[in-house]
Amino acid sequence: MEIILQSTITCPNCGHKKEETMPSTACQFFYKCEVCQTVLKPNAGDCCIYCSFGDVVCPPRQNELKIGE
Ligand SMILES: [Zn+2]
Repeated sequence: MEIILQSTITCPNCGHKKEETMPSTACQFFYKCEVCQTVLKPNAGDCCIYCSFGDVVCPPRQNELKIGE
């Protein structure tokens, strides 16, 4: 399984979608929607905004899932 670095973020406020490249070694806690300027933060239990709002979970989590298989 390859680690995927592209994740499409969907803004929960306005529904805007944008593909972003995730950092492979760190989690991103904040993300500002370019349309409505809402600053997204991770949901409770999620380590980063990609896990909460992206269609692909973050690389560290992909690694965990891979190890857990
Ligand atoms: Zn938005």
